[in-house]
Amino acid sequence: HAKEQGRSGFRFFEMAMNANVHQQLKLQQDLRRALDRNEFTLHYQPKLVSPNGPVVGVEALLRWNKPGEGLVPPDQFLPVAERTGLIIPIGNWVIDEACRQMREWRDAGHGVWAVSVNVSTAQLNHMGLVDTLRDALVRHAIEPGHLTVEVTESTAMRDAETSLAILNQVAALGVGISIDDFGTGYSSLLYLKQLPADELKIDRGFVTELARGNDDEAIVSAIIALGKTLGMKIVAEGVETVEQQQLLTRLGCNALQGFLLGSPVSAAELPATLPATLPASA
Ligand code: C2E
Ligand code: MG
Ligand code: MG
Ligand code: MG
Repeated sequence: HAKEQGRSGFRFFEMAMNANVHQQLKLQQDLRRALDRNEFTLHYQPKLVSPNGPVVGVEALLRWNKPGEGLVPPDQFLPVAERTGLIIPIGNWVIDEACRQMREWRDAGHGVWAVSVNVSTAQLNHMGLVDTLRDALVRHAIEPGHLTVEVTESTAMRDAETSLAILNQVAALGVGISIDDFGTGYSSLLYLKQLPADELKIDRGFVTELARGNDDEAIVSAIIALGKTLGMKIVAEGVETVEQQQLLTRLGCNALQGFLLGSPVSAAELPATLPATLPASA
């Protein structure tokens, strides 16, 4: 009896696995087609000193405008893109598109907002990243200092020697480097000290728990002190309440990002959603 059950259990597992493999293959094909058909789009979320400005920059966030389904968020397709290598052409598109958009905003007389793009582990370990960044900057005539790459703490840590070498090349190009989701990885202080990073983003997890009277305020203070000691600007992500905003500002964050200050919106919508202040000088 037990044997039979074990068998049907296995068959069920096998079928579920086949369905899963099938789904992934389908997604892989769809993503390839999405690139050809130009179905990806970037939304932009501001980083602000305070709710009334100034604007420190904007972060580009990838969306897939899937026909018949609307905007698909990145966590639903990036893992497959990452595993299949499709993240390289998709990521190259993101970098070029962000620079093209900066140029368009400028030519239209909008602010000179610096743009950050997210770069995943496979992209950072890929030899072409530095060339892709340089090509996009030249093609759209953007100063390197107006572009920043965000790498998560875990991405920067993986294969630390290679990551450091590439990040040094990115920094030599003049492109900014931001450590994303900080506090969720396990960076050694020695490694962190060597990173040519300009900005450190405190993970949303700590921000969410703030003002609830637990240890997170002490942790956030410590992260801010550490980042500042290493010469980095501190950005808090996921700021949703006035209470969090006030506390983070008091603790010394240089910029804030989150639904309270502005949700990610399309490039066309962005100018109208930003506070009517001059952009912060870079
Ligand atoms: P991330 O870089 O840490 O981006 C922040 C995420 O938090 C975004 O989700 C943003 O929409 C969301 N968010 C912003 N403010 C708030 C808030 O106040 N509350 C809450 N609950 N969420 C907030 P999104 O756009 O779904 O992106 C998820 C992740 O996907 C990003 O995390 C980033 O790691 C990755 N990603 C996004 N775009 C790209 C891209 O172009 N290339 C690569 N390689 N990764 C990307
Ligand atoms: Mg990010
Ligand atoms: Mg983040
Ligand atoms: Mg995050």
